This record gives sequence, C-alpha cells and structure tokens, in this order.
Amino acid sequence: MRTKLSLQTVRGEFVNRIETISGQSLLACNQCGKCSAGCPVAFSMDVLPNQVIRMAQLGMEDVLQVQTIWTCAACLTCVSRCPKSIDLPRVMEALRQIYMEKFGNVLDPDQIAPEQAAEMPQLAIIGGFRKYSA
Ligand code: SF4
Ligand code: SF4
Repeated sequence: MRTKLSLQTVRGEFVNRIETISGQSLLACNQCGKCSAGCPVAFSMDVLPNQVIRMAQLGMEDVLQVQTIWTCAACLTCVSRCPKSIDLPRVMEALRQIYMEKFGNVLDPDQIAPEQAAEMPQLAIIGGFRKYSA
C-alpha cells in the first residue's frame, strides 16, 4: 500500500508551527547570509540570524535555546537586505512564542516591585512584556 505524504507531514509539526505563526516560508531562505552580514547586533549573538533560520528549516528544536531569538532587536535591517523577502524578525518572534508556550513566560509581571515599575519608562515596560511574555 502506498502512503501519501504531504510536504507538511515530512517537514514536521515544529517547522509547520513556525511558518504558521510567522507567516514566512522557511524554505525560501537560500542561506545567502546577507541578514547576518548587516545585522547591527550580530556581534553579541551566539548564533547568527541565517543560522537561526537554517536550524528552523531543519526542524531543530534546539533553536529554542539559542540566545539570538531574544537578542534580536527587530530593527528590520535584515528584512530590507533579504533577497527572498523573508521577514526574519517574525521568525524570531514565532520562536519566542513557541518557547514561552513550552517553558512559560520569561518575564513575570509579579516579580517587578511596584517601586521599580514606577521608575521604569512605560514604553520599556510595554516593550518588555510584549517580548518576554506570551
Ligand atoms: S538574507 Fe534572507 S535568504 Fe539570505 S540567509 Fe538571510 S533570511 Fe536567508
Ligand atoms: S531584525 Fe534582528 S536579526 Fe534582523 S538585523 Fe535586526 S537585530 Fe538583526
């Protein structure tokens, strides 16, 4: 009996989930490296942006443990450079979301003392919760 396999089945649930959340086609990336070459914070990343997308393409769930998904500043420089029009910050955001679904929020609002919150810029608080909590 022949088994019919779709591309979605072969690539696995993890890859499909990243693509669904991000709205990006991971296979479109041809690993040209332009995103990493232009990234202004690449010097502080443990894994370069093009390597993050490569790990995601291959369905390597270890990518959730990479610091780069949190270091990305969503500055969009890579988006403007990518010849394949891939929105890499959306892929990073999808990976953060999947991480927090699995392991919980990185930032717990209850852990911020009211006096600390009063001194912090409101934009920083909103930005922090947007990035570090699901
Ligand atoms: S610039 Fe685009 S195509 Fe090139 S490696 Fe980065 S994400 Fe892939
Ligand atoms: S959006 Fe993220 S990965 Fe892309 S250039 Fe900016 S910091 Fe680097």
